[in-house]
Amino acid sequence: MTILEDLPNLPYWSARDPARAPLDRDSSVDIAIIGAGFTGLWAAFYLAQADPTLRIAIIERDHVGFGASGRNGGWTSSIFPVSLDHVAKQYGRAAAVHLQLEMNETVDEIGRVIAAEGIDAQYVKHGFLSLARSRAQLARARAMVGSSSALGLPEQWRLLGAGQAADMIDASGVLGGLFTPHCAVVHPGNLVRGLARIVERMGVAIYEGTPATSFGAGEVVAPNARLDAKIVLRATEAFTCQFKTCRRLTVPIYSFVLATEPLPIATRERLGLTRRLAFNDLRHLRIYAQLAADGRLIFGGRGAPYHFGSKISPRYDVPGRIHAKIRHSMVEMFPSLRDLRITHRWGGALAVARDWYPAVGFDRDSGIAWAGQYVGDGVATSNLAGRILRNLILGRDEPINLLPIVNHKSPQWEIEPMRWAGVNAGIALAAMGDAEERFTGRPSQCARMLESITGGH
Ligand SMILES: Cc1cc2nc3c(=O)[nH]c(=O)nc-3n(C[C@H](O)[C@H](O)[C@H](O)COP(=O)(O)OP(=O)(O)OC[C@H]3O[C@@H](n4cnc5c(N)ncnc54)[C@H](O)[C@@H]3O)c2cc1C
Repeated sequence: MTILEDLPNLPYWSARDPARAPLDRDSSVDIAIIGAGFTGLWAAFYLAQADPTLRIAIIERDHVGFGASGRNGGWTSSIFPVSLDHVAKQYGRAAAVHLQLEMNETVDEIGRVIAAEGIDAQYVKHGFLSLARSRAQLARARAMVGSSSALGLPEQWRLLGAGQAADMIDASGVLGGLFTPHCAVVHPGNLVRGLARIVERMGVAIYEGTPATSFGAGEVVAPNARLDAKIVLRATEAFTCQFKTCRRLTVPIYSFVLATEPLPIATRERLGLTRRLAFNDLRHLRIYAQLAADGRLIFGGRGAPYHFGSKISPRYDVPGRIHAKIRHSMVEMFPSLRDLRITHRWGGALAVARDWYPAVGFDRDSGIAWAGQYVGDGVATSNLAGRILRNLILGRDEPINLLPIVNHKSPQWEIEPMRWAGVNAGIALAAMGDAEERFTGRPSQCARMLESITGGH
C-alpha cells in the first residue's frame, strides 16, 4: 500500500509552459483581468473573439492554472450548486429552468470550443452518474427526479434501478442511481494551458508572477507596476477574500484529489469503468471521480476543516488524514482496488458565498467586473460566466444576461470567530449526516439541520 504522505503535492494534471514574464512597467489596456484560471481566460477568449481590437491583459500571481482550474476533478458538468427548487423560490420557476438549460448548453459549448481550437483537453461527454448506495441516498435520488420533473425538466435526470446503475459502474452496495447526459470530463490542466495559448494568439497579454496587491476603478496595482484599464475583472475565486475589500464575500473551502496508477483493462471491464463517465454517490460530503484518458482513476472529495481567517496556504493542500479518508472511500466503493498504487495527491481551495450562489456581474459606473464563487462546480460555469461578461462589458443583449447568477448579491460571511465556528460546524454536520445515514438507513437529521442553515442546497 502506498504511503500517501510520501507523495509530493502535485496535481496529476500539472505541466508547465515556459514561464511568462511578469508585468514590470506601468501600462495601459482596455481590460485588465486578475487571475489566469478558467474565469479570466474564458472571459478573455470571448471578449477578444467579439472585438479583436480590444487591448486585454491578464495578470496572474503565480502561473496559468495555478488555482482550482489546474487542480480540479475535471467534471465539466451542468450541476448548479444551489438546488433548482431553491433558485425557483428566489427567482421564479422560469428563471430556474432557464438556468439549467443554459448550464446544459454550456457543457456542449466547451466541447465545441475545444474541438474548434484543437485543444488537447481529452473532452468526452458520456454524462454523470450519481450512485445511490443506501436507502437514504435512494430516497434523495427519487426526490431529485421528482423535483426536476415538477419544475418542467423531466429529461434532466433519469432514475436508475440497481441493475441499471451497477451495469454502468459496478461499485459496492449499489441500490440505484441518478443519471444525466449533461456532463463531460476533461483534462483540466491541458484545457487551462491550451486556453492561455489561444488567447495569447488572439493578442491577449498574460503576465505571470505578478500579484495584484489592490485594484479599483480604472487600475490594478502590482508590486512593480500599475495597470491602467477602463475595465477591471476580478477572477481570483478562492483567493478573492485576500483583497481587503472582499474579505467577507467568500470563504475558501479545500477539496482534495488522488490519482491512481492506470487500471488494468480487465479491471476496468469488470467494474464498468470502460467509458469516461463522471461519477460519485449521493453522500452529503461530496466525492467525485472520473477515469482519465490513460485509465487512471481520479478520485476526490471534501472534508478538511476551514482555516481561521480564511487562510490559504500550500501547507493545507496535502493533509494526509483527508487523503487517507478519500482513499478509504475509493476502496469502500471498489474493494478490488485495495492494492492499486496511488501515484499523485493534491488539493486546492474553492470559493463559497454565504448563500452558495455563483455570481457574475459588471458595474458600468466603476468599470469593475467579477465572476466566481462556483463552490465545486466552476469548470462549466466559468465558461457561462465568460460569455455573460463579454455581453455585459460590450453591451450585447442576450438571454443569458438575465440568468439568476447575473449581478446576484450574496450576503456577507460572518466575522470571525463566528465564521470559523459556522463553516466548520457545516462541514462536520455533512460528515455526521453520512455516518447517520449509513447507520440508520434513513435520511439524516444532521443533514436536514445543515440544509436549514445553508438554505436547502
Ligand atoms: C480540488 C478541486 C476539485 C474541483 N473539482 C471540480 C470539478 O470536478 N468540476 C468543477 O466544475 N469544478 C471543480 N472545482 C472547482 C473549479 O475548479 C473552480 O470553480 C474553477 O476552476 C474556478 O476557476 P477560476 O478561474 O475562477 O479560479 P482559479 O482557477 O482559482 O483561478 C484564480 C487565479 O487567480 C490567481 N490569483 C489569485 N489572487 C491573485 C492576485 N492577487 N493577483 C493575481 N493573480 C491572483 C490565482 O493564482 C489563480 O491562478 C474543483 C476545485 C478544486 C480546488
